[in-house]
Amino acid sequence: MASVAIDGPAGAGKSTIAKLVAKELQAIYVDTGAMYRAIAVYFLRNQLDPEMSEQVEQACKNIEVSISYENGAQQVWLNGENVTPFLRTEEVGNMASKSSAKQPVRDALLQLQRDMAAKNTVVMDGRDIGTNVLPNAEVKIYLTASSAERARRRYEELKQKGETCDLAQIEADIIKRDEQDMSRAIAPLKQAEDAYYLDSSNLTIAEVVEAILNQCKEKGLWK
Ligand code: C5P
Repeated sequence: MASVAIDGPAGAGKSTIAKLVAKELQAIYVDTGAMYRAIAVYFLRNQLDPEMSEQVEQACKNIEVSISYENGAQQVWLNGENVTPFLRTEEVGNMASKSSAKQPVRDALLQLQRDMAAKNTVVMDGRDIGTNVLPNAEVKIYLTASSAERARRRYEELKQKGETCDLAQIEADIIKRDEQDMSRAIAPLKQAEDAYYLDSSNLTIAEVVEAILNQCKEKGLWK
């Protein structure tokens, strides 16, 4: 089974791009951020502090995350409940960035991610896929964009949903999240040595997809 690993900072467009690439390759799209977000939902609901190591260890013993697909869309299950509708808020994203830095949380998800790739051809996105989860992935992409551009995209997305938001605040949150994800001791976000660096700041979605598919072509994953 072949794997395409796409890593990069928050808001770089990984999920949009990964879904389109997966469709072209007839692969399964695996959103690992959503798995970390499901655990963050557990932390928030139970008012747990990710800095309290005993709470984290206990929580991870009580958590079971699994995924399924409905009409091609990934669903994330937390202890038997489909929590997919609750994952994409700023609050959950910020908690995920804190709780995902902890070893028991990462241990809880690693095998699930590797199993998905062992059984299926996958396009998997996250922060440590090329460096840690799937070090032998056939294609590795490091997808990024300037923080200003990532904030602008996020702002437009929220505005379209009718949510009030502040561009400067969004950029500040993005920079903080990058800092947390890149500086943590365990599985930090960084470009794998053999990853292809792709800055999407001045590229259209179609151009980014094409660049990745060209990488897949070189590895014989796409004609
Ligand atoms: O990609 P997304 O914004 O959904 O990820 C939420 C958070 O989960 C990230 O900020 C990061 O801290 C964490 N994450 C991770 N490793 C991954 C995917 C996500 O640590 N492979």
